[in-house]
Amino acid sequence: MSRIYFDYNASAPVREAAIETMIECCRNLYGNPSSLHSFGQQAKQMVDRARCQVAQLIQAPPSQIIFTSSGTEANNLAIRGALGNHPDRKQLLTCRSEHSSVLRVFEALESEGYEVGYLPLDSKGLVQPEALAKQLSSDTALVSIMLANNETGVIQPIADLIEMIHSYGALLHVDSVQALGKMVVDVTELGADLMSFSGHKIGAPKGIGALYVRIGCRLTPLLRGGGQEARRRAGTENVPGIAALGRVCAILRHTMDSEIAAMARTRQLFEERITDLFPQAVINGRDTRRIPNTCNISFPGCESDTLLLKLDMAGFAVSAGASCSAGSGEASHVLKAMGLPRQLLYSALRFSWGSNTTAEEVEQLIKALQQLVTID
Ligand code: PLP
Repeated sequence: MSRIYFDYNASAPVREAAIETMIECCRNLYGNPSSLHSFGQQAKQMVDRARCQVAQLIQAPPSQIIFTSSGTEANNLAIRGALGNHPDRKQLLTCRSEHSSVLRVFEALESEGYEVGYLPLDSKGLVQPEALAKQLSSDTALVSIMLANNETGVIQPIADLIEMIHSYGALLHVDSVQALGKMVVDVTELGADLMSFSGHKIGAPKGIGALYVRIGCRLTPLLRGGGQEARRRAGTENVPGIAALGRVCAILRHTMDSEIAAMARTRQLFEERITDLFPQAVINGRDTRRIPNTCNISFPGCESDTLLLKLDMAGFAVSAGASCSAGSGEASHVLKAMGLPRQLLYSALRFSWGSNTTAEEVEQLIKALQQLVTID
């Protein structure tokens, strides 16, 4: 049986170019980038090159990119590491629709004495500037709002929020893990203070992430040890992972526009077919800006995990919410934060694809859904 993958937001297939780069690094660049001899310096050059490649894709100065082990570590480092900028402030703001690698950090900080406010979402999944205005204060140290949601693809209007956040002197962290490669991410234009990224969502391997830190924003390291990453993240660098992430970013600089267009065509076809065939199905976040590779659909009358498993048996990989909370039987915290009623909450599935996903694959998925979905 052929298997078709519609779970790119959980992890995308590793690109051939990234595999080649990793093999090359493992085979030939095994020196430690901190070593002074030529083996070490060659590895260091590779890391420096990758730093420039990542920086170029997001219009950042290379010195402001810190490599981490994951998007999760980048989020932890951003939030905890930046608190020293405002040692006297005790209020933090975020949303309940953030990834667990943001939410769990805020929960920990709450138990350490910080006061955490949660910005409400409207039914489209958006943070409203008025809601932010109500909660911001001169005691706010940091606000964390993601750019594109991993479950719905909904894009937050960061540009409408940032000025207000900065007018209180607070910092803005933006989890951009799902946005990279699926929309233009320009750190200068967005003006955020910290932005997190992850390799395995864009065709680099798992276990590599990056954090952008604006010039002038101080960062206290989480990991202590050697002086790697300009003393902001200790630990011998994951050279193969870093090099692969750099290579993918260099490729995306040239291919991103056409990849985005291809993903958008897939979305149009998929959503047209869904709307025609399943009039009761609800595309969550439909009426707002979304990244082009994600579609979250509630099929009232179906149960998410049951439909997911039936689709898997039919050869299709999809997901019911974030992969890290899969199998918990819990409804998606993102959809809950959007205020979805019960029958839509427990019947939602996330479909996510890449630029190589074909119309034929979409048609096969639609056919399987026609056989498996029984709508109330
Ligand atoms: N942030 C978002 C929005 C994500 O979707 C994910 C992964 O699913 C992460 C952070 C964590 O990234 P990583 O898997 O590299 O730890």
